[in-house]
Amino acid sequence: MINAPTSPSAAARGRFGPYGGQYVPETNMPALEELEAGFRAAMADEAFQAELRRLLKTYVGRPTPLFEAARFAARIGAGPVWLKREDLAHTGAHKINNAVGQGLLAQRMGKRRIIAETGAGQHGVATATVCAMLDQHCVVYMGEEDMQRQAVNVYRMRLLGAEVRPVTAGTRTLKDAISEAFRDWVTTIDSSYYLIGSVVGPHPYPEIVRTFQAVISQEARMQALESIGRLPDRVIACVGGGSNAMGSFAAFLDDASVELIGVEAGGRGPTLGDNAATLETGRPGILHGAHSYVLQDQRGQIANTHSISAGLDYPGVGPEHAFLKDRGRVRYVSVGDAEALDAFFQLTRSEGIMPALEPAHALAWVAAHPHPGITLLTLSGRGDKDIHTVATASGHQEYLA
Ligand SMILES: *Cc1c(COP(=O)(O)O)cnc(C)c1O
Repeated sequence: MINAPTSPSAAARGRFGPYGGQYVPETNMPALEELEAGFRAAMADEAFQAELRRLLKTYVGRPTPLFEAARFAARIGAGPVWLKREDLAHTGAHKINNAVGQGLLAQRMGKRRIIAETGAGQHGVATATVCAMLDQHCVVYMGEEDMQRQAVNVYRMRLLGAEVRPVTAGTRTLKDAISEAFRDWVTTIDSSYYLIGSVVGPHPYPEIVRTFQAVISQEARMQALESIGRLPDRVIACVGGGSNAMGSFAAFLDDASVELIGVEAGGRGPTLGDNAATLETGRPGILHGAHSYVLQDQRGQIANTHSISAGLDYPGVGPEHAFLKDRGRVRYVSVGDAEALDAFFQLTRSEGIMPALEPAHALAWVAAHPHPGITLLTLSGRGDKDIHTVATASGHQEYLA
């Protein structure tokens, strides 16, 4: 049984302390209510749980292994470092866990049309993948600017049968694509399911996505007890919207001995616009239908962000992370582009594992803060998608010409 993990918050109606909520137009409320009822019914249905378990095993490839990165640990002078290998999941990252869970939920709710938005394209690809498998019609909104930057992912989505709709409004990036997705959903609620890709958005999305990503820590906790004989001393994951981190922390929240650390993208530095370190440098505000930390200027306008990793380049963060930060249960730190790039090379050369640049941020923090105890780090994705970025940042472009 995949239970909704308990968070210390467990507050009424999607509130994590002062964060979360449903800051959406009145017209979106019936859709959110229908979604919550559908989700609760699915979670209580043993047939749904069995089908989810089957797909996680036979389609996604779960459980993903726990690997001891002994040469990496020796190189950085730390105690044992264990990697939770989400890079080995189908499509090469953790995003598929949530896409499969919500795809099945949509099917159970009788919705054959799936709406998604994507910035870097990774969530769009995961959603298009699941839609192909479940025979669902997939519509992905993407800012025109992002479509140009992520042309390969746009092609991937189209190969998978998805319809990618360019968004030309505003800055032609993710936040404009999100507005379009909500607009579509209001007018197509009877047939459509809006599949959000991280622990963000209005209630009940943060809870739904955490529930489907919690499989990461449910497995890792059991695997640690089996292979190490005890719990890790600290669990570390990178934070964009926060889904792989929430999934990595969920089963450890009640283990007081386990230190939890979330690593954000420090980009080029602490100046607004140069990073995506929302919890470290942002302040509370409303984005994407929820109250949480947001990167915003003096007048409350959403700031531009920068990170070498497209998947961390988001001006908000899930409301439960904001709550866990204020409570002090999770420590949030940041790591810059250069350190993440260096950690990419360190893991690649010491273990023959090319990490995505997102978890390379977590690896870099571990390398800079070696700990004698046991470290568990979620390797949220593989780095194949990032080799052009790595080549450009390292002056190796001629190799890919
Ligand atoms: C999208 C992505 C992230 C960031 O998203 P979260 O919701 O914070 O997990 C991290 N790692 C990889 C590999 C990604 O594709």
